[in-house]
Amino acid sequence: MKTELITMAAPARAAERAAAILRAGGLVGLPTETVYGLGADGLNEAAVRRIFEAKGRPQDNPLILHVPEAAWLDRYCLDIPAEARDLAARFWPGPLTMILKRREIVPDAVTCGLETVGVRCPDHPAALAVIRAAGVPVAAPSGNRSGRPSPTCAAHMLEDMDGLIEAVVDGGPCGVGVESTILDLTGERPRLLRPGGLPLEALEAVLGQITVDRAVTSPLAAGERPRAPGMKYRHYAPKAPVTVVTGAGADTARYIRDHAGPGTGIICFDEYADSFPGCAVRPIGASADTAEQARRVFDALRSFDGTAVTAIYAQCPPDAGLGLAVANRLKKAAGFQIVALEEGA
Ligand code: AMP
Ligand code: MG
Repeated sequence: MKTELITMAAPARAAERAAAILRAGGLVGLPTETVYGLGADGLNEAAVRRIFEAKGRPQDNPLILHVPEAAWLDRYCLDIPAEARDLAARFWPGPLTMILKRREIVPDAVTCGLETVGVRCPDHPAALAVIRAAGVPVAAPSGNRSGRPSPTCAAHMLEDMDGLIEAVVDGGPCGVGVESTILDLTGERPRLLRPGGLPLEALEAVLGQITVDRAVTSPLAAGERPRAPGMKYRHYAPKAPVTVVTGAGADTARYIRDHAGPGTGIICFDEYADSFPGCAVRPIGASADTAEQARRVFDALRSFDGTAVTAIYAQCPPDAGLGLAVANRLKKAAGFQIVALEEGA
């Protein structure tokens, strides 16, 4: 199949073209503020199944439904708690996915048979225009082949999906760079299933303390089932193995320099970019600038594929603000292979 690249030179026409492909059951790579998604008509079971095929995605990993406004919540969800409406009013459009009870109209192919559905309204003019023009909720996971780092620009989308899908809409690089924050509102208390573009602290300022699912910070025990099915898979991973080093920047830089050899890949903070002579160095932003790190972390992870790099070390921000999401993506890319230097190292 030839994959069409749709530019935003004429935005209304581009949205109409992408919407027509979606309405016909096709797959479109769509820019959002978080990462690029692989979209299909979320009410068309056959189209949704094609997402799983194109990605090589496990059949038990449900998709997020993307809507153009909070008023659509009632079409797809039941028993919507007041908190959900409050959060939508404050944070939508934006990088927050809420897990709610689903209505029957949502196909099993989207929820993988769960009684709940994840819903979000993306903060991106192209995504919103396409969804509105299509007139249907768009089911979209991240647009990478399963297990790979998520795409944060149209070129990444094509790297993984050229020839497998009908089109990619080029909306430029993503402003946030990591996926949405997933909050489960179907239990007794709200629970964070995945840290993402909306910091946990912003949610806690509204809801009070939120339980963080264990799968966010630790590997699962053998046979353990996470609440967000996607959290159990190795994810975001480049081909070379990754080791994450946590602790103060100067300590982690020294540790990595002592363990790196020629041809080692390094993901580091800008301050340490010159500390690894002979290595393939990818600075991802100043150590205090977690927003910049979020924008660049997936590109850095991707950039080692197709090079001679056989091992990768990464500095890692602390678990605060967007740092929680950046650290989670790095640790998952590393399969939780972590060297912790915090205490007396
Ligand atoms: P992706 O968009 O590729 O980041 O994947 C969507 C993420 O949302 C995966 O981690 C899913 O497991 C999670 N997810 C989607 N729907 C649900 C749901 N109903 N309950 C829990 N997690 C969900
Ligand atoms: Mg994904």
